[in-house]
Amino acid sequence: MTKLRAGILGATGAVGQKFVELLEGHPWFEITDLAASDRSAGSQYSEAVNWIGSAPIPDVIASMEVASLNTDLSCDFVFSGLPASLADRAEPRLASEGYPVISNAKSFRMHRDVPLLIPEVNPDHIALINNQNWGRGGYIVTNPNCSTVGLTCALKPLNDAFGLEAVQVTTMQALSGAGHPGVPSLDALANVVPFIGGEEDKLVHEPNKLLGRLVNGAIQAEGIAISAQCNRVPVLEGHLECVSVKLGSRANSDEVREAFESFVSPIRDLELPSEPDRFLRVFEDERFPQPRRHSELGGGMTVSIGRIRPCEVLDHKFVVLSHNTIRGAAGGAILNAELLLKKGLLQPRKG
Ligand code: NAP
Repeated sequence: MTKLRAGILGATGAVGQKFVELLEGHPWFEITDLAASDRSAGSQYSEAVNWIGSAPIPDVIASMEVASLNTDLSCDFVFSGLPASLADRAEPRLASEGYPVISNAKSFRMHRDVPLLIPEVNPDHIALINNQNWGRGGYIVTNPNCSTVGLTCALKPLNDAFGLEAVQVTTMQALSGAGHPGVPSLDALANVVPFIGGEEDKLVHEPNKLLGRLVNGAIQAEGIAISAQCNRVPVLEGHLECVSVKLGSRANSDEVREAFESFVSPIRDLELPSEPDRFLRVFEDERFPQPRRHSELGGGMTVSIGRIRPCEVLDHKFVVLSHNTIRGAAGGAILNAELLLKKGLLQPRKG
């Protein structure tokens, strides 16, 4: 098949770099446009970027020229790794020019007509695209906050099996979640920062949209009471979250584990290239999962769960681990694009 042309906005950032890494050799997409700030525009990618990946920059990308956001793009659709302050205006403008925009920014996640998407959780929500009217066939699809992703992937099987009334979550979030250069080393090293601006609010609201039902073309959000506390810890990649849940109906720990293990991904039969063999991996070893050991499972797309046990305050507690720049950002956005292509919503752009 002819590959679709993908542009990356914010291509020099932590998330942009992950797009570059993950799209190398992708069977359906090829990178044709890289855009970043005026500081980078006009330079070769290898000169503009402070590359933090362990593998070298792919040769074909290293020599590409970085464009500014206002340049005409030759691509069929864009992945956005822009800061929200820019995405607020850039993403609707690109949608109105006919580009599908697949975004990591928070700007439109809670917009009534914009899908907030995790393909294994709510693939049917892509129907919201039909409500959008930016003009010329463009649209916006978003993926959730990087901590919301791991949490919601774990909540989905429990909500389906038992219903959920309340969730209490405490996160330990990796440094890469703050972008590059991110948290100053004197704040980060040998330390924990018990505040991440705006993060707790996202964890309270985004899961309820993701787990909501599509009724007559609109999302009926779930009403789960969620309390979140977010911490930045000196880990490179992988957000670990301690979760307690109050279920809608009684279940014991074995039944909770069984709900995780028997969950069948609704996109299983679509054979999307970025879907991991195992969506959820449940650990028996009570020392696991750990960010350094397990973030990369399933190419960074598997969500790991462990330490399932009764909770003395709510009903059950467990830990969840997900890779923040892969499952929680670039990898999740690429999986979104693959689902959209499979559903006929991504195609070569005319004009
Ligand atoms: P980052 O490392 O700070 O990268 C920001 C990118 O935006 C850089 O490429 C930067 O280009 C570009 N940019 C900045 N100002 C610009 C301007 N005026 N015009 C055009 N481009 C501009 O941030 P990040 O961590 O990659 O995050 C990107 C987005 O993804 C954010 O909305 C963030 O909230 C979201 N997100 C991040 C994560 C994560 O784990 N890091 C996870 C989920 C979602 P220059 O290099 O030229 O300045």
